[in-house]
Order: sequence, then C-alpha cells, then structure tokens
Amino acid sequence: MTESSHRAPLSDVQLRVRALESLLTEKGVVNRETLDGIVDHYENKVGPHIGAAIVARAWTDPEFKARLLEDASATLAEQGYTGIEGSHMVVVENTDAVHNLVVCTLCSCYPWPVLGLPPNWYKSTPFRAKAVRDPRGLLREFGLELPEETAVRVWDSNAEIRYLVLPKRPEGTENMSEAELQEIVTRDSMVGTGQATLEQ
Ligand code: FE
Repeated sequence: MTESSHRAPLSDVQLRVRALESLLTEKGVVNRETLDGIVDHYENKVGPHIGAAIVARAWTDPEFKARLLEDASATLAEQGYTGIEGSHMVVVENTDAVHNLVVCTLCSCYPWPVLGLPPNWYKSTPFRAKAVRDPRGLLREFGLELPEETAVRVWDSNAEIRYLVLPKRPEGTENMSEAELQEIVTRDSMVGTGQATLEQ
C-alpha cells in the first residue's frame, strides 16, 4: 500500500483550494511554480527569526527603535520586510506599565513578513474570544503571570493593520550582542503571549 492511501481525507477548504488552483492553472491565470514559491517562502523562509532580528536591533539601537515605534511600516519596508499581509505594520512596546497582546478577533490576521504564518492556537476560537474577555487569564494559560500594576492592552489585528509586540529587554542582558539577543526573542514574545527571557 502506498503512503498516500493513508492520508486523512481533505477538508472542505483544502478541496476548494485544490479545485481553484487546478482551474486557475488550467486557464493559465496562475502558474504552479509561482504558487509553490509563495507557499515555500512563507512556510520555510519567513519566520519569527526575522521579527527577532528586528527586536534585537531595536533593543540595541535607540534611533532604530524610535523610528520603528513611530512608523513601523516605513521602517520595516526599508529593511525589505513588507508584502503580503504586512504592508501596514504597527509596533507596540512592552514596558513595566503596559503589556501588549495581539489577536485577530475576526479570523487570523498576523504579520506574515516578520513572523511567518500564524500558529494554530492563534487561529483558534477560544484564543480569540478569551484574548478579549479575559486577557490576563489567557496569559496565565500561556504561563505568563503579570504584576497587578502592569496594564494589559489588547490589539485587534485586521486586514489593514498588523501588530508586532516589542518585548521588554530582560535584565541581565546588558552585555549580550545583537546576535545573542536575537536568540532569546521568541515568537510568543512578539505576539504578547510570552516574554523574552533568559530562561528558555
Ligand atoms: Fe484576521
């Protein structure tokens, strides 16, 4: 028996996508290699390592950080980080006073050019509902207990604007290089469901 005979049946969405792809390819509207290239790009080449590099630079370069907070779209586009699902970017900074959390209550809008494709939990209904109803409780589920005095601010992404959290730079990282700092910036810390930490 071949491997393919054991595959799970395709979902309705998968079937529709496949049907559309076949039709568009057949009609010469799209070319399969181009499509494969786009999928490969977002699945394998773009990912949280890009966001981590941006955060590490912001932590070490005050002028870059100021520009990033002022106009993220332009500053990121300068670095080549723009395109599908990320041409209008806003970077929000975590401080002792404010912790930012990003959600898309309608679907799964996410800043592709800097974080890649969203994780499954980001797309789930419970996550999207709880982020609004009980953000502090949601963060606790992610293992993040914030001090009372830290306010939680929730940002609802949409087709227009995508948010990236600039996590707090942890204490004890004063002597670390930009490259070393990159390593401690997790995907979750840039969505706001985690923090950058030395203990990983
Ligand atoms: Fe969405």
